[in-house]
Amino acid sequence: MKTFLVFSFMFNFNTLLRTTECIETDQVLSITPKTQEQVDILKNVSTQRPYGNLLPSNSSKRRPRSTYSFLVLLPNANELIEMQMRNDSSDPRGSTTFYERYHTLDDIYFWLNRTQQDNPSTVKLILIGSSSEKQPLYVLKLSLNDRPNKKAMWIDCGIHAREWISTAFCLWFVRHSLLFYSQNPDITHILDNMDVYILPVMNPDGYKYTWTTNRMWRKNRAVSKSSSCIGVDLNRNFDAEWCTVGASDDPCSEIYCGTFPESEPESQAVAKFLRRHKDSVQLYFSVHSYSQMLLFPYSCTLDEADNHNELLELAQHAAQKIRRFYRNTYKYGAGAKTIYLASGGSDDWAYNLGIKYSFTFELQDSGRYGFLLPPSYIPQACNEALTALKTITLKVIEKTQAPTGPPPAD
Ligand SMILES: [Zn+2]
Repeated sequence: MKTFLVFSFMFNFNTLLRTTECIETDQVLSITPKTQEQVDILKNVSTQRPYGNLLPSNSSKRRPRSTYSFLVLLPNANELIEMQMRNDSSDPRGSTTFYERYHTLDDIYFWLNRTQQDNPSTVKLILIGSSSEKQPLYVLKLSLNDRPNKKAMWIDCGIHAREWISTAFCLWFVRHSLLFYSQNPDITHILDNMDVYILPVMNPDGYKYTWTTNRMWRKNRAVSKSSSCIGVDLNRNFDAEWCTVGASDDPCSEIYCGTFPESEPESQAVAKFLRRHKDSVQLYFSVHSYSQMLLFPYSCTLDEADNHNELLELAQHAAQKIRRFYRNTYKYGAGAKTIYLASGGSDDWAYNLGIKYSFTFELQDSGRYGFLLPPSYIPQACNEALTALKTITLKVIEKTQAPTGPPPAD
């Protein structure tokens, strides 16, 4: 039997207690189910309704307390959400504080154009497709020199809409690269040897929806032909043991895999682009939150990847650096054994395509704020991920691009 240790999600007590006089606010609860029945109920709540309807409308707050053991992690989630959205438009774009806040989709599109205009020789915008609601999918290409046969890395952020810190990281990475190239030796060495393709918002429709309607939305916003439920989990929609484990064929599920691999325009655009560039792309990074983990293939099977030990060593090295510099602990390992079995993920798919250094980062935190990480945490969360990314990339450059050693003595 699968054990679910902790579920964290939001309950809208306003909806639940509509019939009572109580005024309640959204809360984030951590619930540990005690029985299989509770596991099943919570599984339904957490996968089908971000605002769970766990209780009948005539129930009282007393009821979950007596039935479930739970902990109120955040007593007033609304306040926290408002704080995350504050000062968005008043912040001058391009200033340091711009990168220490979360931004709307429109602001990110503006930032993309502005960054390209300000750095015409090093930044290129590539339109790789559009979302199901026809929002453009822009990849920002960073290329600091014209060396022939240069290798490249790929970074995607925001595949899951509510993981705002992920998108904040992509912006952070671009700023760091442009600001510290030729000053910081690590980023200079990386950009001298590699181009970088960055997709800051892989799921623009979902991201927009988290700003306008439901902060806890995860999937894209595709309309289903067979159901009134909306959205596909893009990180279950890739062709890696598609929809076999840790995914659902129910359109109402939070981990709905879609109707076939790459059925969604967002995952298809990424897959097409990477197929076209697979000979140059050596490194694949997909950035998520939360839980502080550095993961690598496989997630879709318990089998080990061919270069498992090499990937383990890279992730271990990166986690050690984070611990040393930021005194924060990141778990690391193959996805299936470290977090859970899940098929159709982008990192497994990229690995099978031939990108042998494929990673999924789960950024801060480890559960207190979860997806609602306050903006004041952005700098450290991003710097931790940056440290991991740079550590791994420098090692990969050393392994794959170093001139071969001296010929053996004869
Ligand atoms: Zn995610």
